[in-house]
Amino acid sequence: PQPSSPLLLPSTEHQPWLQLVGHAESFQVGENGRLLKRHCVGEEKCFQRLMEDRLRGFVPSFHGVVQHEGQDYTMMDNLLTRFNTPAIMDCKMGTRTYQEEELRLARERPKPRQDMYEKMVAVDPEAPTVQEAAQRGVLKTRYMQWRESLSSTTTLGFRIEGVRKANGECHTNFKRTKSREQVTEALRDFVDYNPQTVRGYLCSLKQLRHALESSDFFKTHEVVGSSLLFLHDEAGRSGVWMIDFGKTSALPPPLTLDHRTPWEEGNREDGYLWGLDNLIDILTDTLPP
Ligand code: ATP
Ligand code: MG
Ligand code: MG
Repeated sequence: PQPSSPLLLPSTEHQPWLQLVGHAESFQVGENGRLLKRHCVGEEKCFQRLMEDRLRGFVPSFHGVVQHEGQDYTMMDNLLTRFNTPAIMDCKMGTRTYQEEELRLARERPKPRQDMYEKMVAVDPEAPTVQEAAQRGVLKTRYMQWRESLSSTTTLGFRIEGVRKANGECHTNFKRTKSREQVTEALRDFVDYNPQTVRGYLCSLKQLRHALESSDFFKTHEVVGSSLLFLHDEAGRSGVWMIDFGKTSALPPPLTLDHRTPWEEGNREDGYLWGLDNLIDILTDTLPP
């Protein structure tokens, strides 16, 4: 279940943490500026590889797997500790947010889902077809593709998932923020119309793009459902980090991706770099000439 509003976990003065989106029960605030995220093997493997890759500086440092109250957790740096009550934005990257494998599995068992039908109707009562309405159910594949067509995921290669502004205001309702204009406005609002903040982010994003273009990890992984976490504070500090590798998977060699070629089922392309290009363009366009 998604937290309906961002969650402030109990944490000491020196361990501030705020979770913008995702599963609330997945996280624990650890000691010494660390964060514990419910363990999954795929994500652990990614972190292990990333610590040896040139992307190392662009992801939270990984500190192994630990047990807490009978559960395994991935221990990583809490990125917020580098800042003083920062503004936070989570942008989910890529032109699709489900794996090809999920699509294949959903197709093997084509079962109309009532829960997904209800979620669909809650967002748009007009979305179901006559047949879907009659059976009060939609196939998971259909639901996944419909959901992505609402946001800017398909059209821009990224979408804003959640924001905490510098003044403390939180927004997570970006499900239908789709057009370039809507996304531009949301980004401007996040940076409080401050060109200096935008310049800082652009600098980080271009460094990240450069690193991605020559990363072995990136070339050999389908990166789906992963986010960029944007952080800036009043002291003028800012930074962007890659987070959430729960749906990132290694490709069967010798397959590699360029992350810009449009996705066709089977090619595994995820549109990550295409989305990053768009994000950089849109942010650049917010600057005064
Ligand atoms: P989902 O798959 O639904 O996107 P998830 O349970 O996999 O979510 P993440 O996306 O990894 O969780 O993280 C959720 C939120 O927690 C992020 O949007 C961010 O606000 C916060 N967060 C995650 N990792 C860190 C980190 N290393 N430092 C600070 N904040 C973090
Ligand atoms: Mg996430
Ligand atoms: Mg995730």
